[in-house]
Amino acid sequence: MDYLKNLNEPQLEGVMNTEGPCMIIAGAGSGKTRVLTMRIAHLIKAQEVDPFNILALTFTNKASKEMRNRIEDVVGHEARNIWMGTFHSIFARILRAEASKLGYPSNFTIYDTDDSKSLIKNIVKEKGLDDKVYKPNTVLNRISAAKNRLVSWQEYLKNPIYRADDESAMKPEVGNIYQAYADRCFKASAMDFDDLLFNTNVLFRDHLDVLNKYQQRFRYVLVDEFQDTNLSQYLITKKLAAVNQNICVVGDDAQSIYAFRGADIQNILNFEKDYVDLRVIKLEQNYRSTQNIVDAANSVINKNRAQLKKKVWTENTPGELIEVIKASSDNEEGKLVASNIFEEKMHHQLSYEDFAILYRTNSQSRSIEEALRRANIKYKIIGGLSFYQRKEIKDILSYLRFAINQQDEQALRRIINLPKRGIGPASVDKVVVAAYEHDITIWEVLENIHSFLSGRTANAIADFVTMIKAFKLEIERKDAFEAATHIAKNSGILRELYEDKTIEGLNRYENVQELLNAIKEYVDNEENEDKSLGAFLQEIALLTSVDQDKSEDNDLVTLMTIHMAKGLEFKYIYVVGMEEDLFPSQMMLSSRADLEEERRLFYVAITRAKIKLCLSYALNRYRFGRLKNCEPSRFLEDIDPKYIKVNRLQKGSDALAFDQLNPNHGTGSQYARNLVNSVRKKPAPNPQHYHKPDKDFAPSDTSGLAEGMKVEHAKFGFGVV
Ligand code: ATP
Ligand code: MG
Repeated sequence: MDYLKNLNEPQLEGVMNTEGPCMIIAGAGSGKTRVLTMRIAHLIKAQEVDPFNILALTFTNKASKEMRNRIEDVVGHEARNIWMGTFHSIFARILRAEASKLGYPSNFTIYDTDDSKSLIKNIVKEKGLDDKVYKPNTVLNRISAAKNRLVSWQEYLKNPIYRADDESAMKPEVGNIYQAYADRCFKASAMDFDDLLFNTNVLFRDHLDVLNKYQQRFRYVLVDEFQDTNLSQYLITKKLAAVNQNICVVGDDAQSIYAFRGADIQNILNFEKDYVDLRVIKLEQNYRSTQNIVDAANSVINKNRAQLKKKVWTENTPGELIEVIKASSDNEEGKLVASNIFEEKMHHQLSYEDFAILYRTNSQSRSIEEALRRANIKYKIIGGLSFYQRKEIKDILSYLRFAINQQDEQALRRIINLPKRGIGPASVDKVVVAAYEHDITIWEVLENIHSFLSGRTANAIADFVTMIKAFKLEIERKDAFEAATHIAKNSGILRELYEDKTIEGLNRYENVQELLNAIKEYVDNEENEDKSLGAFLQEIALLTSVDQDKSEDNDLVTLMTIHMAKGLEFKYIYVVGMEEDLFPSQMMLSSRADLEEERRLFYVAITRAKIKLCLSYALNRYRFGRLKNCEPSRFLEDIDPKYIKVNRLQKGSDALAFDQLNPNHGTGSQYARNLVNSVRKKPAPNPQHYHKPDKDFAPSDTSGLAEGMKVEHAKFGFGVV
């Protein structure tokens, strides 16, 4: 039983006691993900549980792939048969199989956030409402929050609390927009991301036979990053585990950072009530980070009132102090970080993949990127505009989507006049209205267009319909790659891109080729059971930002937001932009709860570091097009100063600066003592320690926040960071 060797006592308890409900709430880097992984390996290897009977839910698809690989090392090929993935991908799969029970066809489309927003925009326009009041983002967040609390549009309209909320926000029509939105999604045979969870709940509520089937199938249910589940997700797991009661959740309340998306720490507290004979396991030893990092993280999180107190300690070396870098401007910050990375890499013979730079919001990456480019340091950005969001890619994908599902209104709107065929948006609106007036589908209107429109537009639409029908046949007869290639060529998109001989045009053409390559790879990959085009589309629709990282070159510095770094670990972590109003974010200062969520985010950032943590701030920064004076973040003061040293490049002046930023700890003497100590017996980093083979276990890798983070405030309502 080799796989049990690298586990401590409480970890073993978590791995071996596979029966009955179990909850592991423990600090960062204490091996929660490792325990979950080995528990699954143990189920298969020692208890001879059929992998088909195991359901494991992770925060990204990448995390589940890594977990599967670790399990495969122990149990072999069988690991492939475990049901493992994000909530969205697992339940999308189940919904496809059971779609007819909910009145959906099994080829339903998954609307991404852009589709959802543009549909809301259409509805707002059709209702003659002001789109400055009813901003798509705001309305969508409101609808999303309702769905994640399992509030249907019917209940939303009935409930006076929602009405009052909307009225005080001067948006009394949100309920009606919700109704229209739900109706339009249904008619388009489309589900948005929240629907995947909402509809799974409906499915299990209304079809006990179906629920029963999955209860029998999933004899063991396991959830990683449990602190970030929302009510909708919580109820799904609870229902599935209701019969066998073999449910194991792991998480850390101190790392709950998605409350703004409806995640609820209450789930942890409820869990204790929901399962009487619950086994609760504490893991307190941190294996990831140096003592200084662990202690600094503890000193930060202790400032939060709302938390389950736990001890986290480590046997690792004390390591280096945490470095604080002060820069005069954001550009200088970039430079200092870049040169610091370069020095550390050379000095300790590391590779760039050992470094990550974390920031609060995506827009901060610009100055950092510039500096890295100047310093010739290779990097990759997780998040930002992804491959699958590029215009030419979305265009082709919309063709594929529409060829599969002719009710997909958003895809239709995107492609009907692309390349230009003389079918304007007004004609499309007429088609939509006609469908509503005659209570038929949009596709039925298109097929019989001559009964509704005449002239050139009608002819153009008729040709479009003929083309789509031909594409449908291709999809039925050919494999996904051949069909997609045919559609890219015959839709005229590829030709249009090919004829554009500018560099951008060439790039776009190559991107489409790259998409076709991806489909080819998908078809050739034995691990994919369902190789249909629909299955491919579903998979990419549900990729999180972290999953989309396809860099071939591994030796790159990683740049990402802190949200995306959840569950990951790097030897060196740089947290940039440690400034008031930036981190903590301006939008999160309205209540203690918000500020505590920001502080948990800081805790997550600190605890990603294995060897060294660097925090930087700038005194001036361009924000919203203006040069702004910045103050160092209050979070810097949360760290006990004995774990900190300030920018070694400018020791003298920084001792002063540091006192100014920590008015509470008085004179510089304490700081000076620490500085002297740290210089005197600066503990040599012990590379041996970190090079001990952790091959047997890769870090879990979770996150998944897309660009433009949505925030829901008790006071402000909804907004985007
Ligand atoms: P997070 O809260 O950040 O998700 P976690 O609790 O899931 O962290 P893991 O990622 O499972 O922690 O483990 C952190 C690191 O410690 C990993 O590199 C893991 O391989 C290592 N580790 C965990 N347990 C042990 C152990 N018993 N012996 C040696 N290394 C361990
Ligand atoms: Mg983990």
